[in-house]
Amino acid sequence: MARYTGPVCRQCRREKLKLFLKGDRCYSDKCSFERRAFPPGHHGQARLRKSSDYAIQLREKQKVRRMYGILEGQFRKFFFIADRAKGVTGENLLILLERRLDNVIYRLGFASSRTQARQLVRHNHILVNGKKVNIPSYLISVNDVISLKEKSKKVEAITDSLSAVARRGTPSWIQLDQENFKGTIQAMPNREEITMPIQENLIVELYSK
Ligand code: SF4
Repeated sequence: MARYTGPVCRQCRREKLKLFLKGDRCYSDKCSFERRAFPPGHHGQARLRKSSDYAIQLREKQKVRRMYGILEGQFRKFFFIADRAKGVTGENLLILLERRLDNVIYRLGFASSRTQARQLVRHNHILVNGKKVNIPSYLISVNDVISLKEKSKKVEAITDSLSAVARRGTPSWIQLDQENFKGTIQAMPNREEITMPIQENLIVELYSK
């Protein structure tokens, strides 16, 4: 499946939920979803028919996939890893997604969206335990230290994003040292702090068919 190149906000409208894909714009009155909170397209405002179980499960999977900005193949791979691990598959899947380096950069506030975070990783701005890592799907572990290259500390997009970190907050499993552009992973991510409305059991049901 090819990468989605259409209008980003359309994805929020399709999933009928703010997915926060466009950084600061998502918190402003320019947010398309605030103005048109109905699915895109000609029949977007038409009275909705009852969805089948399959359609509901598919939408839930698409919502999470779009939220984290992952293609189908990679999402499925994450599901298989989650399924093989001990514990509840759905929760394992969400925790794996949270452990992705691009997500951690976003959670730390170095980027205002996961897309921007992925670009920072790809463009070699990020160090993990002092070593350059440019793989967005890299999975962080406890005690990892995420920092920026010296030069990157002056990148305007990063400083702007960090100045807004108080508004978004950081999860308890990350300790942010804002002054030194550094974050330490104190624990594995936990399900309780993923506050977006996600029913991960529906994704498990979809992939278990
Ligand atoms: Fe979604 Fe952000 Fe666009 Fe609003 S501005 S519709 S939250 S991507």
